Amino acid sequence: MNQEHFIIIGNGVAGIEAAMTIRSRLSVEDAKITVISKESDFFFSRTALMYAYMNTMQREDLEPYERHVYTQQHITLLRDTVTDIDAHNHTITLETSAPLTYTKLLIATGAHPRHVPFEGIEQATDGVVNFVSMQDLDHCERLTPSTSHAVVVGGGLIGIELVECLMYHGVKVTFLVRESSYWPQALSHEEGSRIADLIRSHHVNLLLEEELQQIHTDQQGRVSAITTNKNQKIDTQMLGICVGVTSNTSWLKSATTPPDIQRALCVDKFFQTSLPDVFGAGDCVQIDLGMEQPLIETIWYSAKRHGQIAALNMLGDQVAYAPPTFFNSSKFFDVEYTTAGQVVNTPAHTKSLWRTHPSQPYLTQRIVFDPTQKDQVIGFNMLGSRWNHRILTQWIEQRRPLSYVRKRLHQAQFDVEFGRAKLKAMQEEILNHD
Ligand SMILES: Cc1cc2nc3c(=O)[nH]c(=O)nc-3n(C[C@H](O)[C@H](O)[C@H](O)COP(=O)(O)OP(=O)(O)OC[C@H]3O[C@@H](n4cnc5c(N)ncnc54)[C@H](O)[C@@H]3O)c2cc1C
Repeated sequence: MNQEHFIIIGNGVAGIEAAMTIRSRLSVEDAKITVISKESDFFFSRTALMYAYMNTMQREDLEPYERHVYTQQHITLLRDTVTDIDAHNHTITLETSAPLTYTKLLIATGAHPRHVPFEGIEQATDGVVNFVSMQDLDHCERLTPSTSHAVVVGGGLIGIELVECLMYHGVKVTFLVRESSYWPQALSHEEGSRIADLIRSHHVNLLLEEELQQIHTDQQGRVSAITTNKNQKIDTQMLGICVGVTSNTSWLKSATTPPDIQRALCVDKFFQTSLPDVFGAGDCVQIDLGMEQPLIETIWYSAKRHGQIAALNMLGDQVAYAPPTFFNSSKFFDVEYTTAGQVVNTPAHTKSLWRTHPSQPYLTQRIVFDPTQKDQVIGFNMLGSRWNHRILTQWIEQRRPLSYVRKRLHQAQFDVEFGRAKLKAMQEEILNHD
């Protein structure tokens, strides 16, 4: 029997999708599959961490697959950390288990919280949290009962999720956002200002254009207060740092055979790294698609697709990655958010059809279009109701003009679970982007 060994580092969505794809093609006689991660026994949905923190889901409910599936599919899960790769000898070293030999290796180690050397952070041995891993969730849950006031830093999606969880547990929260409106990386100033109002309406002390300057600790090393760059001192027992994530690849730099790493692990369009028989996928990679900048995508659906396509390439198929039109959906407290295509930092000549509701400030739709290309629609940013991203991305890909989309907008709304927005009541204006 000439059994190949596929080793996958990381049991996130990229890693598990790769394992399942390989198993769908190769029987247990042909291939052994090992997936390694110290974080948790089983693959879980990182995007749903907040629901476990808010007690609306049990931890086991975060797991997309039934536990018996791994045994059924003959996928070996190993709870360990990989510390070295020797591509010459096709071996990896682990923290506690014996070294393993691979035929093909996938690095799918995801992203970890960006480290910022805030003044006083080294002295804070307790009370500083992130919200990315299962261990972060444990940490937050341990601190919550002894926290009456928390400070969360960083105005993105993870920050607002942590704020919402803390509010759920009756903790008062100050939310520090460096920018003048919430999340300008995804929302226009007007949209971000409305979401800022929404956050305040939930009794969060949102401070815009204010940054963390210094962390103070008590005699036990627990966070006791912070000072902002506006010299405001805020007492707190918990400090959530949510200032972005970065590729989890620093450990590879000292490997016996280090792969090429820039901002992230470098892969080509086939997810092949610079090392033979070593591939990369998910949040940890930057993909060279021959464009000016390599592509870094740190979202769930992309990681899933990366894992599937990387697996096909590990099996010897030559499948190049062609990123689909961008889409994402989320929630700010109770306000739904759907986005597709390009909505921020678009060329100055582009415009938006801006639709607002006379009495519901968090119900808006912004449709970005290009007047120099026959009003071709290039993006959607929808707040306050849930939309079918398949239809929105299809319109973008079909280069539909604004008039076409406007007439059919109701067709792209989700009905059953989320309810339809009152589209007829919307007021419209055209916004310039310059
Ligand atoms: C709170 C939160 C909310 C989010 N919400 C959304 C959302 O609404 N929509 C969206 O699209 N995306 C969201 N994301 C992002 C999304 O979760 C990620 O893009 C996705 O999980 C990335 O999957 P991955 O498989 O690349 O990496 P990960 O899920 O990070 O998995 C990496 C795995 O590698 C393991 N690992 C790392 N180093 C080693 C090592 N040396 N040895 C062994 N194992 C190792 C880790 O333990 C982990 O198992 C959210 C992320 C967070 C944290």
